[in-house]
Amino acid sequence: MGVRTNVPFSELTPEERDIVFNGPAVKKHILYKPKKGDDFAELDFTYFNAVYTVENALAKAKDEKGLKRVARFLKEGPCADCSGTRLSAVARAPHVRGLNLAEAGAMTLDAAADWVRGVPESLRPDMRPMATNICESFLDVARRLLGLGLGYLALDRAGATLSTGERQRVQLARAVRNRTTGVLYVLDEPSIGLHPSNVDGLLGVMYDLAADGNSVVVVDHDVRVLKACDHLIEMGLVAGAEGGHVIAQGTVGEVAANPSSRIAPFLSDQVSARIRERVAESQVFSLGHIRMTTSQLHTVKPLDVDIPRGRLVAVTGVSGSGKTTVVLESLIPALKAQAAGERLPEHVLELKAEGINRANLIDATPIGANVRSTVATYADIHDELRRAFARADDAKAGGWKAGDFSYNTGRLRCPTCDGTGSISLDVQFLPDVTIECPDCGGSRYASEADAIRRAVKAAKGKAAKMKVPDKRKAAKEKLSEATDQGGGNISLSLPQLMAMSVDQALAVTSDLKKVHARLTTLHDLGLGYLTLGEPTPALSGGEAQRLKLASEMGKAQSDAVFVFDEPTIGLHPFDVRVLLGVFDRLVASGATVVVIEHDLDVIANADWIIDMGPGGGESGGRIVATGTPEQIAANPNSITGRYLR
Ligand SMILES: [Zn+2]
Ligand SMILES: [Zn+2]
Repeated sequence: MGVRTNVPFSELTPEERDIVFNGPAVKKHILYKPKKGDDFAELDFTYFNAVYTVENALAKAKDEKGLKRVARFLKEGPCADCSGTRLSAVARAPHVRGLNLAEAGAMTLDAAADWVRGVPESLRPDMRPMATNICESFLDVARRLLGLGLGYLALDRAGATLSTGERQRVQLARAVRNRTTGVLYVLDEPSIGLHPSNVDGLLGVMYDLAADGNSVVVVDHDVRVLKACDHLIEMGLVAGAEGGHVIAQGTVGEVAANPSSRIAPFLSDQVSARIRERVAESQVFSLGHIRMTTSQLHTVKPLDVDIPRGRLVAVTGVSGSGKTTVVLESLIPALKAQAAGERLPEHVLELKAEGINRANLIDATPIGANVRSTVATYADIHDELRRAFARADDAKAGGWKAGDFSYNTGRLRCPTCDGTGSISLDVQFLPDVTIECPDCGGSRYASEADAIRRAVKAAKGKAAKMKVPDKRKAAKEKLSEATDQGGGNISLSLPQLMAMSVDQALAVTSDLKKVHARLTTLHDLGLGYLTLGEPTPALSGGEAQRLKLASEMGKAQSDAVFVFDEPTIGLHPFDVRVLLGVFDRLVASGATVVVIEHDLDVIANADWIIDMGPGGGESGGRIVATGTPEQIAANPNSITGRYLR
């Protein structure tokens, strides 16, 4: 056939390669040897070229698997005829205000709205009335989408590439346009990721839906959304097993006046927004600067960013204004590169951050992939507890060592669930069901561990009142008898301790210095209610975020930058305050804390604000204003500032 078969493809001549790709089909009479057996067989075989073979396989592929096999020989690109606009030459021919349909569709909503406004004027007088009509209905829909902060989206953007929040807002705008009546709309935290100015747009949509005769049920934490509702239902009192009750309901005024409501103080503005003691304006940069100069990246223009060291800094702006690009794609990689002695990212022209060696992004992703990671192991408490229990007389008498107390590998782990605390049941025709281990009741330990006890030097007065938790129900009564040795002296087993909350454990570990210190840190992070044996993958995003900081607290942090990306998402206003307290402690130990945030409580408590915008996408990407919250509030250019007044 004119192609050597004994040399690699890369060494073939151009002529030979052309034969492989495009050569004619050749029929050959061949002798071949099957994989099994030694017999040779004769066969007539037609050799087709590579292009035909792939095209043929593609045409014959009937299922996903077949397509997948061919896919590695194919590559996708824009259509050569329409260059990806999906429109034929005929459809692209007419021009309005200098643009064809494809060009108009490629504009962002912001740009398109401007363009549409001028369309009627640009047409022949006899066409203007009709054009005005069409343009008005376009602008009516656009007004809603713009109000929801979606002006930066291109009109031809594929729906599948929208973020969850963007898609939810597009759907909301469509619901209003469809003029439904009698429909129940349920919105799950629609204010997430919305700039305060877009919360106004969201409220407008909700009012319109209700005015058309629909019902809107919204689950949210944003106090401005809550205040706009006709009827409030407050659930609580706490998260988890103790929650699940309606604690207050009624109009905003009724809930605000209800003494059992937790949200009431925030509804009636009884609490001051500014809870943190901020540095004086003249002192903001007294600990130094972090300066970064960048060139254009995506829609973000070339910037000079000046961040005060050792302060709480909020980066604000509507969605798409470039906050993420500046902080997550520029600042963090640049700081990391400089600390590692590597080259700065290409678009970062200069970085001055003397003495900064660490840049940590603290996000809300779950901790640990499996159930073996618990609060106690993650916070580095469990190893200390194992050693403490191995020192107890009971353990010495039984010959148990610290390693035996590991629920992952130790001899005292529950044999039924192998120390995971749960077992998964294979239910026919249904997905597997995971249940609490029936033998250890989720404690992860074998019953031998219950008998190994440590005397507790409890904090005065607390021991007597202490309710010792016990997960193994059958043995419960016997155990609590053994526990109470009178006179406030109690002894605890490791499974009992692991079933305690952080705050309960604090009261019974005063003699264990390291454990006590780490538990105190968890308490200060607002995590005192977590159970030591709780699996970390089950924690909420906010809990995971704070637990990740446990190992950082109490250290000198003047060489560190901590970055938080919208850390208040899904947090109750109370928890926002706890988080602000955590930021304060980090700053007090010297850290520079940079927070990308829409939450006005956090923004108002920052030492310094960098406000991006003014809009999103092409109309954003600039630093609109910098300063203290007061300076931003007084700045007429800052949209964020309007909401700080
Ligand atoms: Zn095409
Ligand atoms: Zn078990």
